[in-house]
Amino acid sequence: MRRHAAALVVFGAAALAPLATRDAYFLDSLVLILMWGALSAAWNVAGGYAGQVSLGHSAFFGLGAYAAALLATRWELSPWIGLAAGMAAAALLPVAFFVSSRIVSPRLPRLRQFLSNPGAHADWQIGAGERCRGAPFLQPTDGYIGFVWGDSFRPGYAHQGIDIFGPTGPDGLGQTPVVAAYDGYLTRLPEWRSAVILRHPRDPLQPGRQIWTYYTHMADPEGRSFIEPAFPPGTTEKFVRAGTQIGYQGNYSADPSSPTGMHLHFSIVSDDGQGRFRNELEIRNTLDPSPYLGIEVNADRLGDGLAVCPRE
Ligand SMILES: [Zn+2]
Repeated sequence: MRRHAAALVVFGAAALAPLATRDAYFLDSLVLILMWGALSAAWNVAGGYAGQVSLGHSAFFGLGAYAAALLATRWELSPWIGLAAGMAAAALLPVAFFVSSRIVSPRLPRLRQFLSNPGAHADWQIGAGERCRGAPFLQPTDGYIGFVWGDSFRPGYAHQGIDIFGPTGPDGLGQTPVVAAYDGYLTRLPEWRSAVILRHPRDPLQPGRQIWTYYTHMADPEGRSFIEPAFPPGTTEKFVRAGTQIGYQGNYSADPSSPTGMHLHFSIVSDDGQGRFRNELEIRNTLDPSPYLGIEVNADRLGDGLAVCPRE
């Protein structure tokens, strides 16, 4: 208690200062001194003791300050409410990021390890056209399943498919083959540079319904397609057998300045009941690919495990 007495006096006096004076310059300086004090104390812990450069401090301060100030100026709410809301915003956003980063984080270090030397991790990979025992689908490409169904890359988002990173590494564009996972009818919409979708009239696991398989990122950053010439834009309902080569892995993202890492994004899309595929961008319109591939690729169940065929 003794140790805190001086702090109590100083902060108590600062808290009461606005009652004693209305001088804007004095109050401004007081607020700044306390803020810099708090910032440097936090920096001392992060930079001084832990040796970490922290860019989060300014974001943390800014978030609280902007939330409080905007509530007061735009919506004319009491500064007390603004103060509480600012603190809540500053506290909650990092929590949201932390929670979401924890969901993906078990897979990120291993993906980096794989990409740094794909050849050293042959046992982490699946092979195009191979079948895990008892599974209806073939593996759609060669490589390491780096992200799975249900992974979250940011708050409020869940990954609708699986991302398979080819053994040729991030620069081996157009070298890793992609094949049809199951017999079906291939469609490539006229505007699709890197993607195709296959219609499967009978879901092998639930024969009463129709499902679709979607394959994308098969182009370079500028959109030069790696899809087989047999399937030009505008192809509709062309029958292909399981194992037929569709194209090659690429890194197309629709934004040439920011391509994805080279991989195949593969997903199973549900039908709208009218013979059309649903919007693939929403995970609720997709199916867990695990039972189709015979590999655990459900983020919740996989945890930090390796997504490969179970040992026989
Ligand atoms: Zn993906």
